[in-house]
Amino acid sequence: MVTQICPKCKKDAFTWHESDVLSNFTVWSCNACPLQIFEDDSDEEPCEHCGEVTKTFLQSQEEQFNWCANCNAVTNYQKNE
Ligand SMILES: [Zn+2]
Ligand SMILES: [Zn+2]
Repeated sequence: MVTQICPKCKKDAFTWHESDVLSNFTVWSCNACPLQIFEDDSDEEPCEHCGEVTKTFLQSQEEQFNWCANCNAVTNYQKNE
């Protein structure tokens, strides 16, 4: 399976699978750190860094941010209290 650079630990170990419980959601998880986070499939936007339409919104219980799957830019990072 193709891996991406993890937005947390920056290792090339970030992979995804379709969620079994939540349709329209993709689950991203990292093989190198405990990060597990959800992506709403309907929500892809143009990235302000690389111009590709590969910026998605990732969210978990703890945090949420925009992440670009092409250039790995993390924007609008917010910790959920
Ligand atoms: Zn990681
Ligand atoms: Zn980008």
